Amino acid sequence: MTFKSNEFKHVNYLWDDKAASQLDAVERLRYRSNILGADQLITNTGGGNTSSKIKMIDPLSGEEVDVLWVKGSGGDLRTSTRANFASLYMDKFLSLEHIYNKAEIKGVKTEIEDSMVDMYRHTTFGLNPAASSIDTPLHGLIPFRHVDHMHPVSAIAIAASKDQEDLTQEIFGDEVGWVPWQRPGFDLGLVMQEKIKQNPKLKGLIMGQHGLINWADDDKACYELTLTLIEKAAYYIEGFDRGDKTFGGQKYHSPDESTRRQILIQLLPKLRGMVSQQNRSIGTVHMTESVLQFVNSVEAPRLAELGTSCPDHFLRTKIKPLYVDWNPQGESFDTLIEKLEKGLAAYRVDYMSYYEACKHPNSPAMRDPNPTVILIPGVGLIAWGKTKSESRVTAEFYSLAIEVMRSSEAISKYQGLPRQEAFDIEYWLLEEAKLSRMPPEKEFARNVVVVIGAGSGIGKATAHRVAKEGAHVVCADVSEESARATAQELIDIHGVGIGIAGTGLSGCGPAIGLGVDIACRESVQALFEEIIFAYGGIDNVIVTAGIFVSPDKNGRIPDDTWSLTYAINVIGAFIVADEARKIWQAQKLSGSLVLTTSVNAAVAKQGSLAYDTSKAAANHLVRELAIELSPLVRVNGLAPATVVEGSSMFPRDRVVSSLIKYNVSFEESESTEALREKLATFYAQRTLTKSPVTLADQAEVAYLLSSNKFSKTTGQIISVDGGLQEAFLR
Ligand SMILES: [Zn+2]
Repeated sequence: MTFKSNEFKHVNYLWDDKAASQLDAVERLRYRSNILGADQLITNTGGGNTSSKIKMIDPLSGEEVDVLWVKGSGGDLRTSTRANFASLYMDKFLSLEHIYNKAEIKGVKTEIEDSMVDMYRHTTFGLNPAASSIDTPLHGLIPFRHVDHMHPVSAIAIAASKDQEDLTQEIFGDEVGWVPWQRPGFDLGLVMQEKIKQNPKLKGLIMGQHGLINWADDDKACYELTLTLIEKAAYYIEGFDRGDKTFGGQKYHSPDESTRRQILIQLLPKLRGMVSQQNRSIGTVHMTESVLQFVNSVEAPRLAELGTSCPDHFLRTKIKPLYVDWNPQGESFDTLIEKLEKGLAAYRVDYMSYYEACKHPNSPAMRDPNPTVILIPGVGLIAWGKTKSESRVTAEFYSLAIEVMRSSEAISKYQGLPRQEAFDIEYWLLEEAKLSRMPPEKEFARNVVVVIGAGSGIGKATAHRVAKEGAHVVCADVSEESARATAQELIDIHGVGIGIAGTGLSGCGPAIGLGVDIACRESVQALFEEIIFAYGGIDNVIVTAGIFVSPDKNGRIPDDTWSLTYAINVIGAFIVADEARKIWQAQKLSGSLVLTTSVNAAVAKQGSLAYDTSKAAANHLVRELAIELSPLVRVNGLAPATVVEGSSMFPRDRVVSSLIKYNVSFEESESTEALREKLATFYAQRTLTKSPVTLADQAEVAYLLSSNKFSKTTGQIISVDGGLQEAFLR
């Protein structure tokens, strides 16, 4: 069976001759990789690799040589650039076989096999710094010009079935062979090479419990073969679709979307606390039709216990998820919490015994024994990871594993990877070495920082500052548009990460922008609900939002202005703290709150009665809240002196009236920013340090007070004012 480009129903045919014809050979490989990686049914995020053997001129000899270009370690096919591909002299690479064969003890999982990975560097062509992956020999030892190794759901479904070898034969006939599960490495490359020697007509192999590999001497033909094999498998599986009987039929049904959301809002902070006792995690909620069908099914408990199959999958999903047998129709929320607590305790014990039973004398220490995937009937799948990107990938992988189980159970019986094999991947020394090479986690890694007032001024600068420390940043502002703009700036700088999963806002990146009116409790509640749904909880809250209303022409402050000033500067700050408190208490994790007050709180002067007294109240609110929220949450105040630079609180007319007030000369024709600078310079002359106070100065202290660097400080007000003697607190 062959397919024309428009006959593929289960994969997207994306090859464009015109686009490909304009590219050099390496770029054609990049192009092929990108279009393969763009389709989740072809391969998962970060999964699979591709290669081309390309004739190039050797810069040393000027002679033409054969170079193996192969997707390197890390990165993702969909987003790969040329820089993601390693390049190896083919002749040098092939000579490694002698070194391998010389070893006394060789074969899968031997020391020589692991040490081969370091040898690849000696074969580098063209000073290419891209690191070769453990899959390199699969590509190098297959004697064809182009090789695709993918993790397609339909192929893994065959590879994870009890009678995988027979199914391979039945579906593909003689064109595709089968190799049993074996951890990728040099030995697996040799196994594949031998298979081809025995049967030179083979076009590909189903790799037991793993995926698909296939080859051709033309790159477009290789691409089309990949799609054809996946299509064939999917077409075959479709014929066995079990409809209502899938996963043994439905045992529970899901409540409507808004009820589900309410459950999640209540549940996520508690659950985050439960799984974050060792390391804080960020959550992703995934509840597609397919996921719900699985979690609600009769067979879900049995299948969940079998774990995932593809090694790529379970490195993130762990050996198995936690399934909680809760009846969404008949049981209460409290019962769900009880069952989760019990389930988690049992999971950890189970994980420890898995570690103890499978570990080797030189295995790395046991990692966090909490599950990264939690399945709840009626609700869906909740994934946890150290970053949003990681929890999105985890959710994606388990949802793909569900599709694998669906297909495999339709045509045969699904089986997971044997426990010892799973362990030997999870605790592979090469994997550990990769982890230990990673830079240490940043101060706010694993944290969700909410900055209220992030649309401009100090709040915006603070959002940028904490993002630099690895924070997930919720940019909130009374102007939703400016909040979103700040969030977008952060994503543009720090990237959105990888992984395609997450329902609604839960599919977000490391920053989101939301609107909020802190003077309104419902608005603050709605804000925190969105945050919980997006990330699973909160860690640090920084309020920079505030209001300053100038007195009227007669120097008077009308009563409603007084009310508004207090509603935002005092009561609003309290409402934020009060709503955040509920989440902190549900999580039972330490947190911090920073309120922005003002040096005006300590300095009495004319013309800003409402603002100054409101900030004095805010100073005391800091102290009261420090007591109220102890011991879980530290509360501190940041008291800036006037920051004129880029401040929305300093529109031109306020700057002008201040300049007049202080007898600073200026021209009407000068720009607002020039006038702001004049005013800032004037203010600076009144300080002990004689230098203008900047947004960056404020952001630095907002960050420090929130961070663990100030872990023993609470109830304090720190002035950032350049040194104003009259504002010294006493
Ligand atoms: Zn693979």
